[in-house]
Amino acid sequence: MSYKNKIDIITEKSFQKKPFYACDIAENNAEKNSKECISREVIMSSNPVRVRIDLTNKCNLNCIFCYRRHFEIKNMKALITPDDIELLSPVLNTAKYISLFRNSEPLISPHIIPILDKISAFNSIVSLSTNGQLLNNDVSWALVRNNITFITISCCAFDDDHYRKLHGGGSYKTLLENINLLNLIKKEYNKEIPRLRLSFMLRMDTIDYLDDALEFVKKYNFSEGIQVLLFYRAQEDDKHLEPIFNWDYCKPILDDFKEKARKKNIMLDLSYEVPDNWRPLDTEGAVSLCYEPFETFTVTPNGDVVPCTVSGTLAGNIRFEDPLSIWNNYKYQEFRRRMKDKPLNKDCMGCWHCRYVSPLTHGNKLVKAETIFDNFYRKQ
Ligand code: SF4
Ligand code: SF4
Repeated sequence: MSYKNKIDIITEKSFQKKPFYACDIAENNAEKNSKECISREVIMSSNPVRVRIDLTNKCNLNCIFCYRRHFEIKNMKALITPDDIELLSPVLNTAKYISLFRNSEPLISPHIIPILDKISAFNSIVSLSTNGQLLNNDVSWALVRNNITFITISCCAFDDDHYRKLHGGGSYKTLLENINLLNLIKKEYNKEIPRLRLSFMLRMDTIDYLDDALEFVKKYNFSEGIQVLLFYRAQEDDKHLEPIFNWDYCKPILDDFKEKARKKNIMLDLSYEVPDNWRPLDTEGAVSLCYEPFETFTVTPNGDVVPCTVSGTLAGNIRFEDPLSIWNNYKYQEFRRRMKDKPLNKDCMGCWHCRYVSPLTHGNKLVKAETIFDNFYRKQ
């Protein structure tokens, strides 16, 4: 039986309508990896299934709901270069999924176009998430000609005033112009990809815009529908904005939203809806479900490798070591071992960011965190 990870479950929602497969090498590796994930091998004979490459530490917006507002980010000049993509070839050759983002705005990178031109050589499912403000003609054309599979565009307000307020200085008009341009280029070259998805941050001050989101994705051909993310506070004062603590109010609105989406044939990925046995309240339970260090390889903008998207534990640097050596080096092994043996990884004990952690505890953990990721330090 093939093991399904959280990414598979998310993407399957899309692929059931329009199937997409990576190359045979990547599919075979994914199959092998799923077995090793189940047995939680400390030394993996399969390669990572998902490679995340965070191209930069910068972002051009200052969204009101973003944890970046509460942390100072070191090393703002760090950048992944096209040469780094070459160095990553050994893991990219076999990766089923390549993501070009983690916690910043990928399109702000001055290397974005040459990187997109290089990444298309790997027959993977490539995705990126963007606020869309920098999606100009050159970038859109590079996304289309390189067959980038998915683009997630974050937006939770659908007029200029609200957009500017929630998305920290961005322009809704610019966003619309950019999406229109991308759709035009896709049409001109008769391409279905990149397939678009809207990412909607659900808070008590955005919940009223859910219906607008449905209209938006229909109007602008977002074939992958809407991803709804629950907001978690990074400062205690924002607790009243967390939907999970206002669930009696939110639940009927969300049920109504789901029904409307179903009638309009719009796909949804609801971050609060996960299988029943996921998201236990206790940390050990959540860690026992998580397979991140067994399936993912995450590269920061200065070439460091961390064993999961949340982690600040450095496993190596691709500019000094071969990525496949890092994948099974002592630090990676130790991180995997500490997913089952005590003491558990410090990162896992404070983990606030994955789908295995109960939404009731995400904010409680994030609000206490002094550092997150490898280089976000809480502002004093
Ligand atoms: S665009 Fe994304 S990364 Fe940038 S501030 Fe907004 S939420 Fe944060
Ligand atoms: S920190 Fe969280 S996401 Fe990372 S390996 Fe641990 S439990 Fe999984």
